Amino acid sequence: MASFEYNEHSQRVLFGQDSLSKLPSELARLGCSKPLILTTPTKTSYVDTITDLLYGQLAGSFNRVTMHTPTEVTEDALKHCKAVDADCLVSIGGGSAVGLGKALFVRTGLPHITVPTTYSGSEMTPIVGQTEKRVKTTHVDPKAIPAVVIYDVNLTLTLPAKISATSGLNAMAHAVEALYAQDGNPIASMFAIKGIQTLATSLPRIMRNVQDVDARSDALLGAWFCGKCLAGVGVSLHHKLCHVLGGTFNLPHAETHAIILPHALAYLAPSIPNEMKVLAENVPESEGNAVNGLNRLLSKLGITYSLKDLGLKEDDIDVAVTTLLQKPFWSPRPLEADLIHELLRRAWEGKPARMAE
Ligand code: NAD
Repeated sequence: MASFEYNEHSQRVLFGQDSLSKLPSELARLGCSKPLILTTPTKTSYVDTITDLLYGQLAGSFNRVTMHTPTEVTEDALKHCKAVDADCLVSIGGGSAVGLGKALFVRTGLPHITVPTTYSGSEMTPIVGQTEKRVKTTHVDPKAIPAVVIYDVNLTLTLPAKISATSGLNAMAHAVEALYAQDGNPIASMFAIKGIQTLATSLPRIMRNVQDVDARSDALLGAWFCGKCLAGVGVSLHHKLCHVLGGTFNLPHAETHAIILPHALAYLAPSIPNEMKVLAENVPESEGNAVNGLNRLLSKLGITYSLKDLGLKEDDIDVAVTTLLQKPFWSPRPLEADLIHELLRRAWEGKPARMAE
């Protein structure tokens, strides 16, 4: 076995149905009594729930969480955080809420408890993202991993089927890229395989019944494992391409990841035969080819739309390729502009991914 390095991050995780009810004791453990609640405009009901749970003992709430963590929103949240004199942060919602929690942690150092309600996996990672002037950037800050993660399966029961599917595929992408990461290691691969297996089998069950608590539990656990992958190793073509599409063209995060996943894998496939074999063994209905398995999974999950449907214009493809190639990163297969263009063109048209020759 090749030598490897592995970083473990210290974090407390509570998992289960109704685990949000443990928030008061978790705040007490941290010695905090004035949390600022962070959530999206559509989920202000979470603030009501937490206000009841804490008998009104909170500093306040900021309900303008926005996808891709725009710096202007973070600055407004920071002003609010200082104005209400919060002593900790509680983010509740999808990866966008977790992301604002991390961005505020970096600026304030306040303890951060997060309650993820999608499968983005951000809660497990030290990656801090932000978008400024249409450019999305990320940096790694090991201290930015939230101190406490409360995975309450009940909160995921309201996640619509469509968002469950795309969010779950966003998580799977973290695991897929961990398998061929330059700094990959057996620990990350173990989480990756388990995460891929768990999500690939639980997501179709969720499509049949969004209230299936067992399937929801499996998917949330799978997202946890996939998040661990993203926390431990570097990313490559898939994530870099999605960053360009999200940051430059403001395409929705999870949907973009869901569409790109089989296409990016198909491009890299000739250079990663061993990883393709592992993937084919763990993605159902692959029949020896993981790209086929992922194509089938996407269609089973109802992801039949294209980058065009998400709002990308045909001319944007050229800009996306140029932007991608301007940001050098490690890839198991060298990047060829015309082939990346073709990959994006297929994803733009909504065609299934096709293995490169
Ligand atoms: P999101 O957080 O924007 O949520 C999408 C929508 O789903 C929102 O309207 C939200 O209110 C709603 N929602 C969330 N949970 C719900 C529930 N249980 N029931 C009903 N509605 C619910 O989307 P996302 O895909 O979870 O996160 C995307 C963001 O996370 C992006 O900004 C991305 O960059 C970031 N991200 C960061 C990392 C990292 O490691 N830094 C990893 C993955 C994603």
